[in-house]
Amino acid sequence: MLCLILLLAITGYSLASDQPCTDLGGHCQDDSNKCSGSYYSGKCSGSTTRRCCTRTAVEHDTGDCSNVKIISRDSWGARRPRSTSTIHSPVPDFFIHHTEGGACTSFSACISQMKGIQNYHMDDSNHRWSDIGYSFLVGEDGKIYEGRGWNRVGAHTQGYNSRGLAASFMGSFMTHAPNSAALNAVKELIQCGISKGKISHSYALFGHRDVGSTDCPGTALYNVIKAWARFHAHSPK
Ligand SMILES: [Zn+2]
Repeated sequence: MLCLILLLAITGYSLASDQPCTDLGGHCQDDSNKCSGSYYSGKCSGSTTRRCCTRTAVEHDTGDCSNVKIISRDSWGARRPRSTSTIHSPVPDFFIHHTEGGACTSFSACISQMKGIQNYHMDDSNHRWSDIGYSFLVGEDGKIYEGRGWNRVGAHTQGYNSRGLAASFMGSFMTHAPNSAALNAVKELIQCGISKGKISHSYALFGHRDVGSTDCPGTALYNVIKAWARFHAHSPK
């Protein structure tokens, strides 16, 4: 009988302290797991890695940049990285990629791409990376999606991950360029990174194909970035 009372007391306590999450229509789980919507911190009892996962995603900006929206990891429901390594800022290089996967023009479609790419990079036997590889991704909804972000070493450009940040355009851009909303968002992201001290003022811009045997970021997109400021401002190291 005492055990039953104790159990009820513990269960009651736990339910009560997960109430802020329940109020959001979510459930509490360890944030290393997949979540169909957004994650919220501080809504669940127990460890700080136990976070509130909502059914649908809610758009939250990191607030880093005034001219472009960066959708935070929590907002798109990113899984917790298995490990992280801090990058030395400001970085001298910035790399442009494409995902060679599906394009997206809406928040919900881009969120779905983000989750799929992270799962692929973390779970696929050819990768098994600690997290989504790119620093940032961009959709043709004109928004930036936070990958590893400003402060962490990525897995995007072999041999250059410790000296560069990277943005990847969601879609395949061999024969057509991304829309102007996506292109402008990445230009603003770079300016934002400079103003935050994350990218050097004297940075050089490269396409992935400049430093690896790949078609990335697609011929049509590569032809666009060739005309951007600081393209090949210095030779790759
Ligand atoms: Zn690439």
